[in-house]
Amino acid sequence: MTKEPNTIGVNRGSLQDELQNHFELTLGRDGLDGSHHYLYNALALTVRDQLVAKWRQTRARYKAEKPRRVNYLSLEFLMGRSLNNAVLNLDLEDKVREALKQYACDLEEVEAAEMDAGLGNGGLGRLAACFLDSCASLELPVTGYGIRYQYGMFHQKIKNGYQVETPDHWLRNGNPWEFESPENTRRVQFFGRSEYYKDEKGRQKVRWVDSHDVLAVPYDMPVPGYRNDTVNTLRLWKAEATDEFDLEEFNAGSYTDAVAEKNQAEQITMVLYPNDVSEQGKVLRLRQQYFLASASLQDVICRWVNRNGKDFTEFAEQNAFQLNDTHPTVAVPELMRLLMDEYGFGWEQAWAITTKTMAYTNHTLLPEALETWSVDLFSELLPRLLDIIYEINARFLTEVAERWPGDYDRQQRMSIIEEGHGRRIRMAHLAIVGSYSVNGVAALHTDLLKRGLFADFFQLWPEKFNNKTNGVTPRRWLAHCNPELKDLINESIGDEWVHDHQQLSKLRAFADDSAFAKKFLTIKTRNKKRLAQMVSEKCDVSFDTSMMFDVQVKRIHEYKRQLLNVLHVIHLYDRVRRGDTEGMQPRCVLFGGKAAPGYALAKTFIKLINNVAQVVNRDPQLQDWLKVAFLPDYCVTAMETICAGTDLSEQISTAGKEASGTGNMKFMMNGAVTIGTLDGANIEIREQVGDDNFFLFGLTADGVEAMKGDYDPNRIIDEDPDLSRVMNLLEGGHFNLFENGIFDPVSASIRSATDPWMTAADFRSYIEAQQQVAEAYQNKQAWARMSILNTACSGHFSSDRTISEYRDDIWHKQA
Ligand SMILES: *Cc1c(COP(=O)(O)O)cnc(C)c1O
Repeated sequence: MTKEPNTIGVNRGSLQDELQNHFELTLGRDGLDGSHHYLYNALALTVRDQLVAKWRQTRARYKAEKPRRVNYLSLEFLMGRSLNNAVLNLDLEDKVREALKQYACDLEEVEAAEMDAGLGNGGLGRLAACFLDSCASLELPVTGYGIRYQYGMFHQKIKNGYQVETPDHWLRNGNPWEFESPENTRRVQFFGRSEYYKDEKGRQKVRWVDSHDVLAVPYDMPVPGYRNDTVNTLRLWKAEATDEFDLEEFNAGSYTDAVAEKNQAEQITMVLYPNDVSEQGKVLRLRQQYFLASASLQDVICRWVNRNGKDFTEFAEQNAFQLNDTHPTVAVPELMRLLMDEYGFGWEQAWAITTKTMAYTNHTLLPEALETWSVDLFSELLPRLLDIIYEINARFLTEVAERWPGDYDRQQRMSIIEEGHGRRIRMAHLAIVGSYSVNGVAALHTDLLKRGLFADFFQLWPEKFNNKTNGVTPRRWLAHCNPELKDLINESIGDEWVHDHQQLSKLRAFADDSAFAKKFLTIKTRNKKRLAQMVSEKCDVSFDTSMMFDVQVKRIHEYKRQLLNVLHVIHLYDRVRRGDTEGMQPRCVLFGGKAAPGYALAKTFIKLINNVAQVVNRDPQLQDWLKVAFLPDYCVTAMETICAGTDLSEQISTAGKEASGTGNMKFMMNGAVTIGTLDGANIEIREQVGDDNFFLFGLTADGVEAMKGDYDPNRIIDEDPDLSRVMNLLEGGHFNLFENGIFDPVSASIRSATDPWMTAADFRSYIEAQQQVAEAYQNKQAWARMSILNTACSGHFSSDRTISEYRDDIWHKQA
């Protein structure tokens, strides 16, 4: 057996031997079955072994060096697959490929056996995953805290054009990437009541009694940095019942009922709520939020006390909590509770610690997405926390009254409690009041927060507010998903760009290099072939790689305006049918994305896309001009193929509604050109790549606001012959011949004078920008130049840049 030294100085066998050992000894297999399941597991264990040593070393380093530890609290982590990421970050690809030869398998086949860890809805959850990769790559002591949902994001099937949801039982075949850590189990309380008592020194104290407790058991996943010695941790909590039985029931002889009730506890981490933006006030969801916040805080505090005893003087200097949206905001009163009730602090001291450690990231401007919880629900489920929230609010409102004496309107606007029938807790207000940093996720978004939604708070505490434009990891979203482009870039500018985002700009020098452009286009065509293959398998639609690939994939939502894109598709269909093909560019239009199961109109959009696709694809006259497909079950792994094979990236949200977007960045990195509105990070993308390399259209955010009140979509439709014809096809039943009236809600939404998304308002401008795209695409060289510049200018959107800013402006700054 050949021995080679390993990083930690332990001598190991070759990777090939290790793989064989895991396959034959750990898993007890004799040979391959058809599925690659065991080979995948053996390989995952082999690669995992290499992570574990670095993982322990990283923990030891943090313990010794005592840097400020950051805890990233998020209800969602959309991790996708782990094997490919570990192989890339550990630089094991060549060895792994070699080792797989003995099984006559290639790496891609084996990787395909891994299920996505789909513990998130979309952008917010994927951002958390990109951030973890960047934190480890930048060697920052950041721990992710989340929930180990047994069912992640639902799988989407399309039946008769409609979305059908099926459960994602991602753990069914086991998960080689997690380590259960029962010795770190925490206890989380629910229900019961607050009891006031005097402690041994006669001080007034409070304790939470008669509660129903649930155990939080941690499962740790390693998060490897890119080619360094850092492996950070993602700690996911699973709910388990305590072994205490309800004594009354037990004594009444209902032993089996008492045991069965234990299910209640374990339900907390059963399923991810599949809502994209709007929250619906479900009790179970609040239980999840508190479960995560409490278990994670106890975990951090317990580690603190183990090392420092009950001296919390330096706690705030040594710890920070980043709240990913308001979802974990109950951490603010929970930290107060732990410090006061468990560790004996007075209010002032506890509040000083809390407001020096909490930092809040806002992710949306949509009012329906702002979380509120009913006071009644809180008082039943989390009685002790409600006491604390009331006290936080009372003290806060005193501060407001001192700043603006007599301004009762403002006090009401800013209060953490929303009055009215059924009082509610405004989680965003609680987060702002309890945090030393509040950030938006793109320049425009932060600006709109300061001017609009949080204007009162900005006036009170301008120093808390800051912007952190989102980013995506160039490891997964370029090096891994586009290996040929990675190789071409390496040949041209070296390979430092993978961890030094500024280096990608060296590619600008190649924008006019025709030899480079030729290779670049060849790679794009090969990636389009891979995408076309996927579309053919999953949608049974054949995409022709000589046509332009025009792609919109993201959650289905009115504000993202998949509808506007469909109207353009219908317009192109109408043009071809009328023989008006002058200057037209043949296109394959791809849609993908999940709709929240309760979001009826979004689900109707999916049906509309599928019906339009069917009419277009089976019309021989359209053959050479237009193909349309809806790709089912959009997820991280699908996006890895999609973004590499896209020519045109659709980022067409109503201006002022998309906080940032990150899909836009993945496309840009892979050389897609964007057609987009001045919304979210699109604005910064356009600034980076230059106006000439971005197709801009539509109202601005201010323009959208200004138009409210005298928006008249019916007049716009009447005065625009193209839009009139499109509406005529849509409303005449051309796409729903035997499905009477199913698209009526769609046309009604377009024609509504109160349509917040202003689809009709942007139609003309969008159609014209699309025509400019068509003409630009026909000049292959000019298009290649634009495309290369998009990749070259995408360095700014590396999440390494974003995380460096969090590090410098938030985590390393003391409040
Ligand atoms: C990047 C990503 C998103 C976010 O896309 P947006 O276009 O920014 O909304 C959502 N889902 C998945 C699977 C992603 O990879």
